[in-house]
Amino acid sequence: RELAALYGVSRTTAINAYRQLEQSGMVKTKMGSGTYVAAAINPSPTGVPWSQLFVPPPQTTMVSLIRELISVEITGNTVSFAAGMPDPRLYPTDLFQELFLRYQRKLNNFELGHIPTEGSTSLRRDVVSLMNQQGVQTGQNNTMIVSGSQQGLYLIAKVFLSPGDYVVVQSPTYLGAIQIFQAAGARILTLPIAGAFPLNLLEDYLIRYRPKLLYMLPTFQNPTGQVVPLEERKSLLQLAAKHRLAIVEDDPYSELYYGSQPPPSLKALDDYGCVIYLGTFSKVLFPGLRTGWMIAPEKVIDRVALEKQYVDLHSSNLSQWLLHHFLQEGLLANHLRHIRQEYKKRRDSAVHALRRFSNGQISFREPEGGFYLWCSLPEGVTSRSLLHETAKTGVTFVPGEAFYADAGGTHEFRFCFATHSRDLSTDGIKRLAKCLAGLEKN
Ligand code: PMP
Repeated sequence: RELAALYGVSRTTAINAYRQLEQSGMVKTKMGSGTYVAAAINPSPTGVPWSQLFVPPPQTTMVSLIRELISVEITGNTVSFAAGMPDPRLYPTDLFQELFLRYQRKLNNFELGHIPTEGSTSLRRDVVSLMNQQGVQTGQNNTMIVSGSQQGLYLIAKVFLSPGDYVVVQSPTYLGAIQIFQAAGARILTLPIAGAFPLNLLEDYLIRYRPKLLYMLPTFQNPTGQVVPLEERKSLLQLAAKHRLAIVEDDPYSELYYGSQPPPSLKALDDYGCVIYLGTFSKVLFPGLRTGWMIAPEKVIDRVALEKQYVDLHSSNLSQWLLHHFLQEGLLANHLRHIRQEYKKRRDSAVHALRRFSNGQISFREPEGGFYLWCSLPEGVTSRSLLHETAKTGVTFVPGEAFYADAGGTHEFRFCFATHSRDLSTDGIKRLAKCLAGLEKN
């Protein structure tokens, strides 16, 4: 009654106000004693409205397929031809364990503190000599260690692209790159991958749209396995020099060749200095190292390092330290020889089984390296409908649409032959072919 009089409101209004305070847990009423401020404010039953606090999510046309794919567990009856994963049974973990035991006693605590954003000096030096062996003339100031080439791509997008900028990509291309460019708000121009490299179309784009970057995988492309021939690489670089085009060369697979060695990288042929090169240890060793590298003009390295500093200060010391010893001991060459032999067998076996069990209904070109077969289905069957059926039997792959920035790929899919033993892979292919035959009948 006093409160109502004090604020000049009716008694009912004052009582209602008390009730609301009580409901929200801010006051407590003791019968016969009065109303007291509650000791602690009760948490709201609905919790923090997280999704209202987020900034608007990136406008990508795809859901985060990569996250979905790497969450598929590779165990027992499941046969994943989806993720672009090396076989965990082929990781050289015994060598890494041995190196760790041997060198940990010499590990200086100071080596575990912060290091320069560009990476540990020793590993950068190793990467330079690795690149030199591959015909790339470069130095430490042009080299930076990144947490996987995925981070390299992200940082490139961050320092070069504003919303509305144009980027040129091959079509189809690596879905992780499409997602990054779309999230940056870039407009994506596409170059069809079938046939010779479309230099005329690229020149048309360069004149019309002045794109900031051309992103491509010249060697054992993801997803098609294609290789751009040497002469086309040279013509592309001439065109780039003429128009001052910056090229991002993503190169995770060039060491995984199963016949003759592929042509030198664009970076090795780059007299003009227009190529930003991305390499990674993820496919040749194991992805959990999260270690890749970028080779670029010093100006680019400096600018990217500034951005990387905001993201993670530097990549993991421990991975870099281990990799340095692995490379110093000269263990990479032997390991590469071993996995090339093994993956070649797996490619041959998958090619054979797909041809045999699908009765020619799945067509593809046999790739000379990398991890993937790019498969086409008959007119009446979409890759999504096939995946719908195969997933019920524990078999997965990536539908083609994921690799197109624009429309396409409904009758195509990417098949990774690297992850499983030949026997398990053949078993998965049989299940896949059975599902396909079932769909064709309907
Ligand atoms: N680029 C391509 C073409 C890839 O296939 C991958 C891995 N799927 C990446 C980049 C990212 O690899 P990393 O593990 O080095 O980040």
